[in-house]
Amino acid sequence: MTSFFSSPETFAGRLLNQRYRLEHPLGQGGMGTVFKAFDTLLDRPVAVKLLTPGKLGTAGRNRLLREARAVARLNHPNIVAVYDAGEDEGAPFVVMELLEGDSLHETPPANLPALVEIAKQVCRALAEAHVHGIIHRDLKPENIILTPAGAAKLTDFGLALSPQPDSAENGAFIGTAFYVSPEQALGRELDGRADLYSLGVLLYEFSAGQLPFSGEDPVEIISRHISEQPAPPSRFNPQVPPGLDALILRLLEKEPEKRFADANQVLNALHTALGEPPSSA
Ligand code: ATP
Ligand code: MG
Repeated sequence: MTSFFSSPETFAGRLLNQRYRLEHPLGQGGMGTVFKAFDTLLDRPVAVKLLTPGKLGTAGRNRLLREARAVARLNHPNIVAVYDAGEDEGAPFVVMELLEGDSLHETPPANLPALVEIAKQVCRALAEAHVHGIIHRDLKPENIILTPAGAAKLTDFGLALSPQPDSAENGAFIGTAFYVSPEQALGRELDGRADLYSLGVLLYEFSAGQLPFSGEDPVEIISRHISEQPAPPSRFNPQVPPGLDALILRLLEKEPEKRFADANQVLNALHTALGEPPSSA
């Protein structure tokens, strides 16, 4: 049998559920591979995320399909549209809007105002998702795509596997460990404030120029998320103003209760985080 992981290219040309023709891989992540594909029924290009067979148990697969259906009901300019989800020969897949552009990971923001603008769009997406009971669970730069028109679009809602340190098979899990909230790392019940923590990590990374917590392996990174206090981002980048410093540290509070109550509150705080714009005389 062809190993999916070693050569996703061999899936090119394959027709999923007699409808979606896979063209070529756009990229690979921890859960599977994203393909450029063609919806032969609606006659339009799409993106298909084909998950690696066997990575999810039955419970995980059911949750994935349930969440994909929930996201498919969302209609928001900062959330990648999900068109369909299904299974082909045991491999779960999600069909999405095909986006142009690179992820935030590949194209970091040029300056603090650009970072804050992206964060505002992410907050709008999170507010919409949370109000519908959907938690992202894996917010990180790789899952934010910046379109040529300047929109930030969130992908992969609800697709994350629960981060168990012993499931670290490859670097992709480490990528997730950098952004994981303490409560998610501890396997506790989550609400939208777990995503706010991940947003805090992301804001920290691009304002300070380094992650708040890093380490050799996921266990080390996770234990820092759980117990270490982060230094203010301004320590590494003196240009970070006090308002943004405070906002980021509040997002990174260990206890969800000490963070902002919801994404709309973060959005409001972001409006003034850089201080008053200098008045034009
Ligand atoms: P994870 O599996 O943890 O989400 P990841 O985000 O790095 O890790 P994928 O989600 O598999 O990996 O995405 C792989 C690549 O495909 C990324 O570089 C991303 O930019 C691209 N991609 C994802 N969704 C789309 C889309 N709807 N349209 C175009 N490209 C996409
Ligand atoms: Mg992704």
